[in-house]
Amino acid sequence: MNTPLQIKTDAPDYNALTQQIRLWAEELALTVGFTSPTIAAHHRQRLSAWLAAGYHGDMDFFERNQAARTDPRQLQENTLCIISARLNYWDEQSSNAQSILTNPNIGYISRYALGRDYHKVLRQKLKQLCLNIEAEIGSFIWRPFTDSAPIMEHALAEQAGLGFIGKNTLLIHPQAGSTFFLGEVICNLPLASDPATEKCGCGPCNNCLTDCPTGAIVAPFTVDARRCISYLTIEHEGSIDESLRPLMGNRIYGCDDCQLTCPWNKFSQTTITADFSTRHQLDQQPLLTLWHWSEQDFLSKTEGSPIRRIGYEKWRRNLAIALGNAPSSTEVLQGLENAILNASDLVKEHILWALAQHKNKTNQQAVHVRRYFL
Ligand code: SF4
Ligand code: SF4
Repeated sequence: MNTPLQIKTDAPDYNALTQQIRLWAEELALTVGFTSPTIAAHHRQRLSAWLAAGYHGDMDFFERNQAARTDPRQLQENTLCIISARLNYWDEQSSNAQSILTNPNIGYISRYALGRDYHKVLRQKLKQLCLNIEAEIGSFIWRPFTDSAPIMEHALAEQAGLGFIGKNTLLIHPQAGSTFFLGEVICNLPLASDPATEKCGCGPCNNCLTDCPTGAIVAPFTVDARRCISYLTIEHEGSIDESLRPLMGNRIYGCDDCQLTCPWNKFSQTTITADFSTRHQLDQQPLLTLWHWSEQDFLSKTEGSPIRRIGYEKWRRNLAIALGNAPSSTEVLQGLENAILNASDLVKEHILWALAQHKNKTNQQAVHVRRYFL
């Protein structure tokens, strides 16, 4: 435990407090930066253009909350400063990502979702940080956010000097890659801003644009969420566009391709937060094992995990697509067929699509065989 600096309650030394907050953050495994609540114009313009193009898909909340998103002061009166925080999630176990992606019989789950739900973990850490500050200087206005409010978190983090926004739209730090969560505290402390990260470190690299399985990064710094597998498997309700299903491969919850291909992630830092350790071997479960989970299995094995948020039906929808993309086998075909009877309309439609994929593969194989023998 670091010794707290001497800060008088009646006249806080805000420079000293800023340094003390960095030390408290470090003890909580956080890296923090400070910025004013004014979002720079180029970030606001990029958001407007993205919404105008309809790239947000059916995430209507982006449209509804645009005013607060571009002006955090609307979330809390008297906001003077935003403390932006990074928390590493990359676990040792995560390093098998590429081998899982190339094994079509295994379900790929985005590496950030293999452990405990980050919303609670990060929020708790931000809350503790604020309680430390209060113990030092007395009460002040603060609100912690972890994806829980309309906030332009990448823009604020870039302004707070925590990294640069890459062409894949994620925040990247040259010594930490992009495998971290972001959270914010908005508060009424008059803390000096850190210098913003001015320079994008992508240079001529275009790996994320060329390696995105669905071509969702339609231009540098622009993701069409409607094509993004993260959006499709997690946010999107209802049926998934048939033209995108074969491109999803075995990705059943989220997608990491635009991070795995990013050269800056050679510098990803392994998390020291035990909560993010992989649970139930979710990093390498066979698709059929997951397919045979009952709803009760799903609920118990994803307890405390962000995966639980999508619910059993979307989980089954995603799995049906991955099984349609898996190699044909008796077990896969039987597993799909046996599930039709009790499936919801949504899942049934995806099961029938999956079965049609296998029928097509069988027909194509038959054509190859006929060509060979006749
Ligand atoms: S998460 Fe996957 S689908 Fe979405 S932009 Fe990145 S690589 Fe493309
Ligand atoms: S893959 Fe290349 S272009 Fe994409 S974010 Fe990383 S460095 Fe930038």
